[in-house]
Amino acid sequence: MNAYRALHDALADRQPLCAGDDRFIADAPSTEDIAEMAGMCELCSVRARCLDYALAAKPAAGFWAGIRPPRTYAPRAARSAEDRRIA
Ligand code: SF4
Repeated sequence: MNAYRALHDALADRQPLCAGDDRFIADAPSTEDIAEMAGMCELCSVRARCLDYALAAKPAAGFWAGIRPPRTYAPRAARSAEDRRIA
């Protein structure tokens, strides 16, 4: 199953914490918003699949599973506690 399909299927019966929150698509979120969004992603039930998708698709914008592009989508780095805090 590819990462997109896995995320799509996970979202079929779950509402992600970012749903309707425009900060997740903002071009220049504030430091406070980034910290809050990272905390939301930590609690999100689809975080693992969201992260897998972000690592596969490498979106150029948005906020994905605690990652804010542009940055290097290195799986180990993205999964580290350090990256989840900094985003
Ligand atoms: S982990 Fe992904 S789906 Fe969940 S709140 Fe964060 S950006 Fe949204």
